[in-house]
Amino acid sequence: MVDVASNINLSPTHSKDAIQMALDLAYKQALSHTEGHLADYIPELALMNPDRLGLAVMTAKGRLYTVGDVNEPFTIQSISKAFSYCLALELVGAEKVRARVGVEPSGDAFNAIEFDPVTRCPFNPMVNAGAITVAGILRDVYQQDAFEKVLERFSKAASRQLELDESVYLSEKATGHRNRAISHLLCASGVLAEPVDEAVDLYFRLCSIRVTATDLAIMAATFANMGENPVTGEEVFELKAIRDTLAVMYSCGMYDFSGSWICDTGIPAKSGVGGGVIGVVNRQLGIGSFAPRLDEKGNSVQGVIAIKSLSDELGLHTFECSNTGSSFVEQLIR
Ligand code: GLN
Repeated sequence: MVDVASNINLSPTHSKDAIQMALDLAYKQALSHTEGHLADYIPELALMNPDRLGLAVMTAKGRLYTVGDVNEPFTIQSISKAFSYCLALELVGAEKVRARVGVEPSGDAFNAIEFDPVTRCPFNPMVNAGAITVAGILRDVYQQDAFEKVLERFSKAASRQLELDESVYLSEKATGHRNRAISHLLCASGVLAEPVDEAVDLYFRLCSIRVTATDLAIMAATFANMGENPVTGEEVFELKAIRDTLAVMYSCGMYDFSGSWICDTGIPAKSGVGGGVIGVVNRQLGIGSFAPRLDEKGNSVQGVIAIKSLSDELGLHTFECSNTGSSFVEQLIR
């Protein structure tokens, strides 16, 4: 892995530009919201310091803006689901993935034990049942090297070598009976192939990768920049796979809060119970936030407030008239 710290283009601190000002405002608006609770169903997560708030934005051209605790490590948890899904799409193709994991919002909790009544498949890859199935696909492709291979790809997206948080992994492994139950039900209905325990173990490991808000902003910016990491210039993900991933993040990334979220922010996003959230503004920027207190749906309270504020301030909503996105149709006409 190349040392890229010196490549990161820090935003100018002397003359505050609009993005830094919006980020500072988002931080200020979120700071006083100390409601919510740490995830404690994974015992190790209950030991986190709740008073952390970090926000980072990286533009698709690689300019980084930060405020607060952006270098504080925490586990990626369900945010891994977006990147794993993208990888599975690339490795085996959308058709094969779609045959095992749907793309419909479940409207239910991330750990719900429910499947599509017609196909018997998980509703989507952003809930646990879907992500465990995706882990099964990755395990089928990479066999016993699966964790290392996927970690390598995540690391390329973050532009630094990421690592497993061994204690969070062991904590979830020791207590993750519900996820194991889901995986065995998936196996019983033929959606998840043996060895089931290996698939769920890979899922636990992927959730326990340690990141920072800055890492998440760079990973999100890699999605925003059509798969090319804006810091290293390396091609990390395939464009077609990103397209499908962002679409599912749009409709399902914030669990049973996804509808309100997308109406209010218009930003495809993914949250994790470690307190992280990513937001991807296509072709424009990636957002990474970290604030570990969660609401009742399992989303970071302060992350939700801060990203909504950013969206409002910078006009990032997909359907905001100020957000012209990639206006290629006009270019075709000209
Ligand atoms: N590892 C966690 C779990 O399976 C991830 C959940 C989440 O981040 N929403 O419960």
